[in-house]
Amino acid sequence: MAYTLAPLPYAYDALEPYIDARTMELHYTMHHAGYVAKLNAALEGFPALAALPLKELVSTYATMPESVRTAVRNQGGGHYNHTFFWSSMGTRFGGSPHAEVAHALTKHFGSFGAFQEEFNAKATTVFGSGWAWLCVTPQDTLEVITTANQDCPISGGYEPILGLDVWEHAYYLNYQNRRPDYITAWWHVVNWDVVEDRLRMLTTR
Ligand code: MN
Repeated sequence: MAYTLAPLPYAYDALEPYIDARTMELHYTMHHAGYVAKLNAALEGFPALAALPLKELVSTYATMPESVRTAVRNQGGGHYNHTFFWSSMGTRFGGSPHAEVAHALTKHFGSFGAFQEEFNAKATTVFGSGWAWLCVTPQDTLEVITTANQDCPISGGYEPILGLDVWEHAYYLNYQNRRPDYITAWWHVVNWDVVEDRLRMLTTR
């Protein structure tokens, strides 16, 4: 058993001009593929761990043997986060949240605009490498959180419904050090259909 890199759900240039094709190609074929390869290498000799569903592997890394714990946290987290990230984007540019998501955002943040402001502020101020997330909390509220490096919200019991990679490798070719410009552009490619499906699955669990 080994973890595998699923195909990107669209072409490298599908998110142009917001996210450029070269960035997408490098991000997927070098960074994401690298996490998968290193995860599999680390789990050689641990067939029971390598057979776990990815989500279970990542959310239980803290109880694993010390020799694989860091690799599962970083490489497994990288695999989970990037798989989640690709499917959070799509080509219906400039969409806005559907009724159910819009309603939940208004309920928990006051308005869609207030949610976006909080998300932008937190994503912009992640120090170094990490992620910004919109999550359903264990108390079934919505929260914007950030994680460092490749840490995942699921390891802390939070269920992400939207996530943004703010590592420099995600934007430096096109935006250089202008992370806020990348964040602004990224809203155009958010796949609200998927966000809605994720929210619905969690609220009917
Ligand atoms: Mn990345």
